[in-house]
Amino acid sequence: MTPLKYLQAYPAHLQEQVRKLLAEGRLGEYLHQRYPGRHDVQSDKALYSYALELKQEHLRNAPNLDKVLYDNRLDLTHRALGLHTAVSRVQGGKLKAKKEIRIASLFKEAAPQFLRMIVVHELAHFKESDHNKAFYKLCEHMQPGYHQLEFDLRIYLTWRDLPQ
Ligand SMILES: [Zn+2]
Repeated sequence: MTPLKYLQAYPAHLQEQVRKLLAEGRLGEYLHQRYPGRHDVQSDKALYSYALELKQEHLRNAPNLDKVLYDNRLDLTHRALGLHTAVSRVQGGKLKAKKEIRIASLFKEAAPQFLRMIVVHELAHFKESDHNKAFYKLCEHMQPGYHQLEFDLRIYLTWRDLPQ
């Protein structure tokens, strides 16, 4: 049985569905039907505006976002699709926490739904640091259908790893 490294947290019957699509060579078709588009958020500047807009809409009271950028060093094998950090820096004699979000560069070429999903995920971490119930509730609030999108994103990652 092929291990599905991006889908290991999902129930066996769901993994089985993905294995079936894989075996039939239909993973690409599954994705193309549901996610035919590509977004145009191509620069770090555009990504920052994009994230800020989502934050203003849903998390007005969360701390300010200092930086949002694409990062090609995020290691997918460690399940890091995005990163959120609060880096403490001394500024004008005061300690200030800088809020940063890094998004794996592969999302540059992804469907708009996947970009939104990952940005929502990282923004939600500013309120809930763990992947607990409250965290997913917030994600689902910011992005209805969040769970399905995260599952499909993991299918997308599985597909990307296939010899093309
Ligand atoms: Zn997370």
